[in-house]
Amino acid sequence: MLAVPPNSSKPPVVSIRGLTKVYGNGFKALKSVDLDIREGEILALLGPNGAGKTTMISIICGLVNPTDGQVTVGGHDVVRDFRETRSMIGLVPQELTTDQFETVINTVSFSRGLHGKGKDTALIERILKDLSLWDKRNNMLRELSGGMKRRVLIAKALAHEPRILFLDEPTAGVDVTLRRDMWQVVNKLRQTGVTIILTTHYIEEAEEIADRVGVINAGELLLIENKRTLMKKLGSKQLRLELTRPIAAVPPGLESFELKLIDDGHALIHDYAADETLGNGHDSRIAALMKALAAADVPLSDISTHQSSLEDIFVKLIGERA
Ligand code: ATP
Repeated sequence: MLAVPPNSSKPPVVSIRGLTKVYGNGFKALKSVDLDIREGEILALLGPNGAGKTTMISIICGLVNPTDGQVTVGGHDVVRDFRETRSMIGLVPQELTTDQFETVINTVSFSRGLHGKGKDTALIERILKDLSLWDKRNNMLRELSGGMKRRVLIAKALAHEPRILFLDEPTAGVDVTLRRDMWQVVNKLRQTGVTIILTTHYIEEAEEIADRVGVINAGELLLIENKRTLMKKLGSKQLRLELTRPIAAVPPGLESFELKLIDDGHALIHDYAADETLGNGHDSRIAALMKALAAADVPLSDISTHQSSLEDIFVKLIGERA
C-alpha cells in the first residue's frame, strides 16, 4: 500500500534514454537503456554481478559520464546541469570512504554543507535518531561496527534532504536486525514522497519492498514491471494432490488436466499459469479437476499449492538469456 502513490500522469523524476556506456578498455557496460522512474516509487534493480547496475547509478548521479544517450533528473540534464541534479539526489554507496577519524555528527553535517544546504541541527538530530546513531554521534567512524558504518552512509545521503535516494546494495553483508531497520527507514522515507531506487542481489528484498522491479543483465534492461504484475505474468502455480494410497497410473477421464504422477504413485501434480485467476476461466478448471478426481474415485488426502517466487522468475529470465 502506497502512502504517496507514484503519479504516472506527472513527468518521470528520472528519465533515461538510449543510455550507453563504453569504458576506456572498450567494454560495453550499458547498451542503449531506456527507463522512466516515477516520483514516489520504490524501484528495485536486480541483476547478477557485472550487469551494469552501479554504472547506471553512477551516471545518473553524475559520477561517470555516459558514452551516448541522455539522462534527466527533475527535468535537468545530468551532465549539463550537474549541480542541480546532484543536489536532488542522495547516494548510499557500497562502501564508506570518508575520514575515519571524523565523528559521526560532523561527517553527516558536513555532507549537508557539501550540497550547499544551510545548517539544520534539528534535521541532523532527527536523521541520526531515526537510524539509531544518536548515541554514537560523538564517536569516530573508525570506532563503529560495519553495520553502524552502513547507517552513517544512509545518514550522509539523507542530510541534504534529497528527492531521490539511490541505495547500492544496501543490505549486502548486514545482519537481519539492520536489514529490518533499513527497510523501515526506506518505508518511512517513501511516505514523505522520496523516490527510492535500490540495487540488490537479494530477491526477497525486492519482493518485500519494491513497487516495480527492473532486471538488468549484461548491460541491457530485460524488463521493468510492477512487481505484482510481473509475478502474475511470469509466475507459475502448482497444485499438489496427496493420495491416501498409491495409484499405478493417472485414471482415465483426467487426460485433459495433464496430471503428473509422482512419489511412487503417492501424489499428483498439476501445473498452471499464475495469471489464470478468477474470471478468466481457471477457477472453473480447478473445480472441473476436483469433480473429475471425485468421479474417478481418486483417494485424496491433502491439497496444497505453490506459487513461484520472484527468485524463480529471475533465475528463469537470466537463464534464458545466458
Ligand atoms: P555488481 O553487482 O557486482 O556491483 P554491477 O551490476 O553494479 O555489478 P557494474 O559495476 O556496473 O556492475 O559493472 C558492469 C561491468 O562494467 C562489469 O563487467 C565491470 O567489470 C565493468 N566496469 C565497471 N567499471 C569499469 C571501468 N572503470 N573500466 C572498465 N570496465 C568497468
